[in-house]
Amino acid sequence: MNETNLNSKQRSDLKGAYKTFVRQMSDWYNGGELPELAGQDLRFVLGLQKQKLQSLGIDIKYEIQMKGSGRTNVASLSLSDRIFKNTIISGYMDMTRSIGSSQEQLSKNTTDIGLTVMIQELKNGTHPDDNMALCCPHCGAPSMIGMLQCGCKYCGTKFIMSEFYPKVMNYSINERYISERIRSKNKRDLTILITACSIPLVIVGIIIDMFASQGRYMILNIILGILGRIVGGAMFGGMIFVFKKLFETFGIIGKGLRGGRHTISTLINANKIKNYDPEFSSEYFRDKIISLFRMAVYSKDASELACCKCQCPERAADIIEAQLFNFNINSCKITDGVCDAEVTLFLDCLHYKERKVVSKSDKFRMCMRKRIKAPTELGFSFAAVKCPSCGASFDARNVKACPYCSSEYLHEEHDWIIIDLK
Ligand SMILES: [Zn+2]
Ligand SMILES: [Zn+2]
Repeated sequence: MNETNLNSKQRSDLKGAYKTFVRQMSDWYNGGELPELAGQDLRFVLGLQKQKLQSLGIDIKYEIQMKGSGRTNVASLSLSDRIFKNTIISGYMDMTRSIGSSQEQLSKNTTDIGLTVMIQELKNGTHPDDNMALCCPHCGAPSMIGMLQCGCKYCGTKFIMSEFYPKVMNYSINERYISERIRSKNKRDLTILITACSIPLVIVGIIIDMFASQGRYMILNIILGILGRIVGGAMFGGMIFVFKKLFETFGIIGKGLRGGRHTISTLINANKIKNYDPEFSSEYFRDKIISLFRMAVYSKDASELACCKCQCPERAADIIEAQLFNFNINSCKITDGVCDAEVTLFLDCLHYKERKVVSKSDKFRMCMRKRIKAPTELGFSFAAVKCPSCGASFDARNVKACPYCSSEYLHEEHDWIIIDLK
C-alpha cells in the first residue's frame, strides 16, 4: 500500500469529518440513527451489537465530548490503493458510559478516552469504476456506483460522487488513566489505610496502659501512648499504601505491555504476507481483525455469517463491547496463494453475566484466511459485492452463492474471513 502526505486543506477536511462522526456516534448510542458517515461494515457491526443488547434486555449509552479545545491529531501518513486513501485520526474525549435495563442501572462511569478512526476518501483525481459494488447510502440496498448516480433501484435516491465519501471504516476506543481521578482515589486509599492501622493500635494501647500504669502519671501515659500509636499506625499505613501502589503500577505496566513480546514475529509474518500481497498493511489488517471479531461475538449465530466459518466460543458469548488493544501474528502459512494466519488478539471487553457488567482484559486466538494473490481493495465490503460470474451486485453477508446466477461465492477470495476462534 502506498503512503502519502497530506496538505493542510485535506487535514482540516478530515478533522471536520472526524468531529461529525463523533457527534453521530454519540447520537447512535443515545437512541438515534446509524452514523451516516459509517461505512457499510461498521454499520453492520453497530447493528449487530444493538440487536445483541436488545436480546439481553439492556442498553449501552455513550456520551462522548471533545476535551477542551477539541484538539485532534491527524496521522501524518495515509494508506492508499488505486482508488482510495485511508487516514487514521485520533482525538481525546470525555466519555460517560452507562449500561442498564429499563428497571435498573447496572453501571455508569466517566473516563478519559482516546478515540481513533480510520477515514476513507477518494484519492485526488480518481473516480471509481461505475460498476464498483456499493450499498445505497440511503436505504442500504446493494448496488453499483453508476446505478446509484442515476437513482437507486429500491428507494429512488440519486447521488453525486461527493456524497459517497468520506466514510469511516472503523473506530477504536482507548481508555486512559486520569491523573485527577487517580489523585483523589490515592487520597482516599491513604486515609483508609492510616485509619485502619491506627485505630486498633490505639484501642489495644489504651487497654494495656490502663492496666500497666498506675498512679499520678496514668492519664499522661495514656495520652502519650495514644499519640505515639497514631504516629506509628500512620507510618505503617503509609508503608502498606506504597506497596499497594507499587503492585498497581506493575499491573498497569503489565496491561500496557500485552502482546509486546512478539512484535518481531508479527513483523516477520506481516512481511511474509506483503511479499505476496504488496497492498497488505498492518493498520488495515488490524481494522479487519477487530471488525471480524466484533461481528462473530455480536451476532446471534456466528456460523450464519458468510465471513465466519466457526461458532463463537462460549467464553466470548457474553461480550457486549470489544476494543482491540494489540495483536500478534503468530504464524502464517501460504499455500497456492491462500494465506492462513493465526493471530492472537489482546482485547478490552465488557461482559454481561448474571445481570452484572464486568470489564476484562481478554485474549483470543483467531485463525484467518484470504486468497492473497489479488491485491487488497480498500473499498471492499461484503454488504455489496460483485458476482465474478454474472456481474450482478448483491449483499453477501449472509449468503454463500449469487442470488442471480447461483454460482458459489467464496468470501476468502475477496477478503479475510474467520476460520477458527478460541
Ligand atoms: Zn436506496
Ligand atoms: Zn452471479
